[in-house]
Amino acid sequence: MVKNPVNNNELYFGKHSEIPMNEEQKAYMKMAVDLSRSGMESGKGGPFGCVIVKDGKVIGIGSNSVLETNDPTAHAEIVAIRDACRNLGHFQLDGCEVYTSCEPCPMCLGAIYWARPSKVFFANDKRDAAEAGFDDDFIYQELELPYEKRKIPFEQGMQDTAKEVFQEWILKEDKTLY
Ligand SMILES: [Zn+2]
Repeated sequence: MVKNPVNNNELYFGKHSEIPMNEEQKAYMKMAVDLSRSGMESGKGGPFGCVIVKDGKVIGIGSNSVLETNDPTAHAEIVAIRDACRNLGHFQLDGCEVYTSCEPCPMCLGAIYWARPSKVFFANDKRDAAEAGFDDDFIYQELELPYEKRKIPFEQGMQDTAKEVFQEWILKEDKTLY
C-alpha cells in the first residue's frame, strides 16, 4: 500500500487519467489551481477554482465564492460557467473545455450537463475533497431515497395547476429550445 507522506493516508490512484494532459491543458489546470488558492487565501470561499476554455482562449474563470457572496451555489464551476456564458452571450458552452481544480459536486455536475461543454478536466477527485472536509457523497445517496426518506423531505402537491403552464409551454410557438 502506498502512503501519502504528508498525511499518511493511502494514496488513491483513480482510473480517470489514462491519457496524460498535454502542456497546454496543464497550463489551464494550473490556472484553475491558482484560482483555488487565491480564492481560499482571500477568504472568498473554499479551495476550488475553475477555468473555461474555447478555441485556445480562456472565456470564463471562477473560484468558490460562497463566503464572499453568501451564495451557497457559488461553487467555482458555477461561477465560471456564468462568466463564460456571459462573455459568449449564449447559454451553452459548445466546444468548450472545463478545467476544475476538483471533481465537480452533484450540483456542478448538473450545471455542466446543462451547459454542455465538450470535455471536463479535473485535478483533485472526490476522495481528496472528502479528506479536506468537502464530502458530497451524501447527496448522491439522497438521490436514491424516496422523497419522504430524504434529509430534506420532498412533498408533491398542486401538480394539476403547475402542469397547466407546461401545457402552455408545449403549445407555445415562439419558444427557444435549450
Ligand atoms: Zn459544486
